Amino acid sequence: MKIVRYRFKGVTAYGLLEGEEIREIRGDVFGEFQAGGRVSGLGEVDLLAPCVPGKIVAVGLNYRDHAEEMKVQIPDEPLLFFKPSTAVIGPGEKIIYPKMSSRVDYEGELGVVVAKISRDVPLESTRDHILGYVCFNDVTARDFQERDLQWTRAKGFDTFAPLGPWIETDLDPHHLKIETFLNGERKQASTTENLIFNCYELISFISKIMTLMPGDVIATGTPSGISPMTVGDRVDVVVEGIGTLTNSVAEG
Ligand code: MG
Repeated sequence: MKIVRYRFKGVTAYGLLEGEEIREIRGDVFGEFQAGGRVSGLGEVDLLAPCVPGKIVAVGLNYRDHAEEMKVQIPDEPLLFFKPSTAVIGPGEKIIYPKMSSRVDYEGELGVVVAKISRDVPLESTRDHILGYVCFNDVTARDFQERDLQWTRAKGFDTFAPLGPWIETDLDPHHLKIETFLNGERKQASTTENLIFNCYELISFISKIMTLMPGDVIATGTPSGISPMTVGDRVDVVVEGIGTLTNSVAEG
């Protein structure tokens, strides 16, 4: 099923998307819930980022094709960094190009949404800790990633974490095509089969370091084909089985 978060008539809520119709969620989207009645059509609401993560844990250099492209060794352990919750935007919202940067890249990724409090999760249980999957854009100020020892600035600007357009709960995450289009031109094309550490391994690994909370997001890394964006550009991240996350770039 597809879980959306939306604003309609001044009210923000979670809902279930069925075709072009949104149905009410009765209960807790991170616990027990049931589908209620029809709320509205998809076109009548403002779609928001489908969850409100307390933290985003992102993974660097996690695709074989990207590692080969960069001519670097495949890492032994996941390379982790944070993106702040204040960077989150939803489908259709603008990525703001920071005035202090001169190179801002898209990074199309598969995002994993955590379902429940997760600490020391054994690999065989990780599936129960995942609510579902989103398209994610790990927007990066590449000039600062190269210049700064820590990536906090490069990865942390407001609007640098577009995610959505909804959470797809019924998905095998291991064999999904992932593509990124810049102004309609395909720039990234890979499959999650190329992930060095897959979604289940990442949840298990990260939960041995920090407690993952309901709604937290894991950004699983980007394949080869990164490149810069400019003001006015439109970027689409497409993940098979989920859908298309579209954002455009606006001046800071
Ligand atoms: Mg990334």
